[in-house]
Amino acid sequence: MNTDKKGINTICTHEGELEDKLYKGAISPLYMSTSYEFDDVDIKRYPRYFNTPNQEALCKKLAALEHAEAALILGSGMAAISTALLAFLQAGDHIVLQQTIYGGTYHFAVTQFQKFGISYSFTDGWEPKDFEKEINPNTKLIYMETPSNPLLTITDIKGVCELAKRKGIVTMIDNTFASPINQTPIDLGVDVVLHSATKYMGGHSDICAGVVVSSKENMEKVFQTGICFGGSLSDYTVWLLERSVKTMALRVRAQNENAMKMATYLSQNEDVAAVYYPGLETHPDHELAKSQMQGFGGMLSFELPNVDHALFYKHLKLVKPVMSLAGVESTMTSPVTTSHALMSPEDREKQGIKDSLIRFSLGIEETEDIIADIEQAIAKVKALTVTA
Ligand code: PLP
Repeated sequence: MNTDKKGINTICTHEGELEDKLYKGAISPLYMSTSYEFDDVDIKRYPRYFNTPNQEALCKKLAALEHAEAALILGSGMAAISTALLAFLQAGDHIVLQQTIYGGTYHFAVTQFQKFGISYSFTDGWEPKDFEKEINPNTKLIYMETPSNPLLTITDIKGVCELAKRKGIVTMIDNTFASPINQTPIDLGVDVVLHSATKYMGGHSDICAGVVVSSKENMEKVFQTGICFGGSLSDYTVWLLERSVKTMALRVRAQNENAMKMATYLSQNEDVAAVYYPGLETHPDHELAKSQMQGFGGMLSFELPNVDHALFYKHLKLVKPVMSLAGVESTMTSPVTTSHALMSPEDREKQGIKDSLIRFSLGIEETEDIIADIEQAIAKVKALTVTA
């Protein structure tokens, strides 16, 4: 399919789909075979070679959505991140990582790079000058995440890429929080884009997967490392993920709208100390977000300092206090005990992640129902605390 003139929902629905030539069914057939003929065939197919029919079909869709030439699907976001990083780095190399990143990526850097003889620096902030300060003659890679987990900081993607290009450094970005519906970093100059597909691509809290997209040349490197680490995904899950991606634009746009309404409401709630959402005009990088994103996303964070969090979570009836994010159901989590638990309290403090921070993933429910749920939970906690 020529995707140049196609709408985003058409690409989500149709790009890459497999034709059911035998039974003429409407959707891609599922090929679960782990063994394919090797003789007299164009492609030697094997799940760990990332080239089964369902993997190839979904890769076409994902590459089209990210305006990339090629994609690979892996078993989790961390499988995608670690495989991509090690595809581009070798002993003696140095990498500059943004300070505010997903806790698991941070944990990977501080526990694994040393084993491979790779040195690393974290930036002090997320402006291009903060990245420039950390570059040294061995720097081969710059790693960004925007909007970042959990504080929704916004990195100037174009600014960092221009800097990297001048110095011949490869750029990588975790685009999980935005999804390709809200941000296509390749258009802004990024070389390699990563996703935890467990989040918006899956969108129903029932799939764990990861994605890497880039040019064909870069993806050959990721492929060569990927077949060694063996982090491919079961074809059944690949097939489910294809189904999920069909509704991604519909879901994400509804979630964008709900997050904007919720951020506005929380900013006016007297129990809330701070709201972090790039769609708010009060966000320090609102203008930058507007210039590089097509939507501000379904994630926000807020501080709820004087309400007992354990009791608050317990009294929520609709919003689920769970670990992950980006499902069609609204969820909340405490970064200190989940996504950033592996980070030391000092490092969390450096990033500005307070104990009172709640990360909020907006689903597709009516916002009025979610607001009513929050209000009744806060009221119950207050009544209980006063009685006690
Ligand atoms: N990147 C971001 C921004 C995330 O939030 C997560 C998980 O929460 C990951 C990467 C890792 O993804 P996975 O859990 O699928 O390995």
